[in-house]
Amino acid sequence: MDAWAAATGPREVLLANPRSFCAGVERAIEVVDRALERFGAPVYVRRQIVHNTHVVHDLERRGAIFVGEVDEVPPGSVLVFAAHGVSPAVRAEAEARGLRVVDATCPLVTKVHTEVRRHSSREATVFLIGHADHEEVEGTVGEAPADVVVVEDVAAAARVVPRDAGNVAYAMQTTLAVDEATEIADVLRSRFPELQAPKSDDICYATTNRQRAVRDIAADCDLLLVVGSPNSSNSLRLVEVAQREGVPARLVDHAADLDLHTLVGMRRIGVTAGASAPPTLVDELVGCLGGLGPLTVDEPSADPEVLRFTLPKEVS
Ligand code: SF4
Repeated sequence: MDAWAAATGPREVLLANPRSFCAGVERAIEVVDRALERFGAPVYVRRQIVHNTHVVHDLERRGAIFVGEVDEVPPGSVLVFAAHGVSPAVRAEAEARGLRVVDATCPLVTKVHTEVRRHSSREATVFLIGHADHEEVEGTVGEAPADVVVVEDVAAAARVVPRDAGNVAYAMQTTLAVDEATEIADVLRSRFPELQAPKSDDICYATTNRQRAVRDIAADCDLLLVVGSPNSSNSLRLVEVAQREGVPARLVDHAADLDLHTLVGMRRIGVTAGASAPPTLVDELVGCLGGLGPLTVDEPSADPEVLRFTLPKEVS
């Protein structure tokens, strides 16, 4: 009761724009939906289709079964690969098991896989800037395990030793913090003059736009709330971006997780959501803040994100 009393009062909410679902996540969810319509339940999905617990539970209610690995799927079933992509070894395993595969890998992740294969075919060492334990990185490394070296931070970039310093390239996980990844790439570039860069930035448009939107509002906020699940890389990066701008920030999986103590004395609250977090969860969070006192909600204008990806042929 005391926490409620201390957290109440008038507030301003500043909504970051853009926020929430990206084109790759919308496509992945639609792939599972269409697969359920076309083939009937159950449809199996390897790993979380996107890194959000609410999306996963919603699809489970509709007949999706989430598994860790291909060998948990009964032979002959329909299996969807998640948006983060898989290694060729996983594809081969699914084929050997006689599974009907529908691939929901985001086309922007597929682009990184293609780059890695291209460099590997000319025997280059590929520095993959990213987090070794992330599923996307796991899948990308699997394209050429002997040629890809994961570089997680500036210190690793400063000490990594390739097979041939004259034949090196780099690629990036799509959901990194833009400034941190650029710093790592700069260290690699300074050490290896022959380093080949991706044709265009691997960090995707959605990651870049959501981080910029946080930077745009950070100076006007006492606190930033990021709607997203704890295993969502791009949501965690939004928290870090705000913190680097000097604003306290918290990840909130669901409005019910909101710790009232963190709201005490916070009058201007920024709200955003990672690319895998549904927009409805943002609405719920803003609704909860409105329950604590009079609320004004503002949202800066931004260019609309118009990118759409076509669906895989199995479900289009
Ligand atoms: S965050 Fe970027 S790479 Fe990941 S699914 Fe969305 S658009 Fe694709």
